[in-house]
Amino acid sequence: MKGSQRSIGAYLAIALLWLAPAVPAEELVIEQVTVVSPQHPKPQPRQNVLIRDGRIVSVGSQPVKAASGATRIDGRGKFLTPGIMDSHVHVGDVPGLALGQNDPAMQSLADAYIRQQPRSYLYHGVTQVLNLASGPEQLAAFEAQPQHPDLFSCGPVIVLDGYPTVFIDPAVRYQVMPDYVYEPANAAAHPLPKGADPAQHTPEVIIDKIAASGAPCVKIFIEDGFAEGTGWPLMSKETLQRVRAATRKRGLTLVAHANAIDMQRIAVEAQVDVIAHGLWNWNEYSSDEGVPPAIAAHLRDIHAKKIGYQPTMRVLAALADLFREDTLKDPAYAKVVPAPLLQWYETPAGQWFKDEMRKGMGNPPDMKAMHNYLVVGSRGMRAAKYLHDLGHPLLLGSDTPSAPTFGNQPGYDTYREMRMMAQSGIPLPTIFQAATINNARQFGLDKDYGSVEAGKIANLLLLTANPLETMRAWTSIDRIILRGAVIKRESLAAPRE
Ligand SMILES: [Zn+2]
Repeated sequence: MKGSQRSIGAYLAIALLWLAPAVPAEELVIEQVTVVSPQHPKPQPRQNVLIRDGRIVSVGSQPVKAASGATRIDGRGKFLTPGIMDSHVHVGDVPGLALGQNDPAMQSLADAYIRQQPRSYLYHGVTQVLNLASGPEQLAAFEAQPQHPDLFSCGPVIVLDGYPTVFIDPAVRYQVMPDYVYEPANAAAHPLPKGADPAQHTPEVIIDKIAASGAPCVKIFIEDGFAEGTGWPLMSKETLQRVRAATRKRGLTLVAHANAIDMQRIAVEAQVDVIAHGLWNWNEYSSDEGVPPAIAAHLRDIHAKKIGYQPTMRVLAALADLFREDTLKDPAYAKVVPAPLLQWYETPAGQWFKDEMRKGMGNPPDMKAMHNYLVVGSRGMRAAKYLHDLGHPLLLGSDTPSAPTFGNQPGYDTYREMRMMAQSGIPLPTIFQAATINNARQFGLDKDYGSVEAGKIANLLLLTANPLETMRAWTSIDRIILRGAVIKRESLAAPRE
């Protein structure tokens, strides 16, 4: 009886299928292309790639059987790669605009930026971004744009009054950031705000909320101060242990902001999965050449414990760029920055952050200010090269924007981060891995991303040069393929009205 019921059901399903109007699958075929993908040590020439409904169906040298209506691309002389993943971005922050500037003219600049931002990432071949802590409205605004990279986001676990909330007026801090962790060890200087329930501000409660939001990761901030800031509160060892246990229980990747040697040591001891910055603040070990023994020992520890590492070299470079007279004249800026915002950067008001940084350094001239940042940045470059030489896989993360500097711009900084890795002496195939499969694996996304393989999401790039041989490949992107849709690069450039 049961068996016959099942077969009647099956017949019915087949009949319904047959009656349903046929929806043709969206097919794309790329023919005779050279595939450059991290699972192959060498480029694979004369490959035919079939893409259906946004996923790769097959990759091989045999001819492809596609529907008659399929889009076909002649791939001869071109290189097909996975789309780039940038695993350290902040889509809610507008480069160069002050936090909380509440004026309609600024709002209109911010709106123009928000419209262009995802297109700028795509323009530079970035088809996946990982946002390290923004509000849900900011993430929704990014995804509301008609063309945007696939967006992933880590939830923040911030200690009461700690970085980055130190930049928010204490009067509104808890409204802006209601999900802080209360640290009993800091109670004397940072007591629980009046009326707050300590049971709602434990690592477990905050991390449960992040897990419920569907985020793949949690970001913590190990920062006791920079520039003029000092003595910012940190989580105690006990609290960090609870954060680690709760993230493990929920299967969340634990990412830590830390860029100074003492802070990174705390991160390593807390057994984080990823350190979201390069090591450039060497404190008492500072040196203008090589890697001092104490720094080298720490980097070997990172390698031994298999901790993911984002060099984020653009953080210091983007501060130096505030003081470089041709930064805003760079033709690449016009491609990614909306025209009104670019014009505003040139005005005295648009230079506010440069003025503030200069004052903080005791008013040096431009060249001296730029030099100061480049010296610190060069330590981060040497640390990344040292790690690479140990055989440590690096992660591409640009930290765009890392501060309110116009020196960071979406997409262009992902490219400039890769260029700085090359300038540090890191070979191009390693940079390619950092930009593709390493990021996908580290954040548990390699089922869908990171290589040109059957079954993966068709976020791909068609390049006119081989990225394993020249950095120029990343500036000569012919087309961007986003979930199987083919986009011409120039169509993504910022409008020049
Ligand atoms: Zn960041």
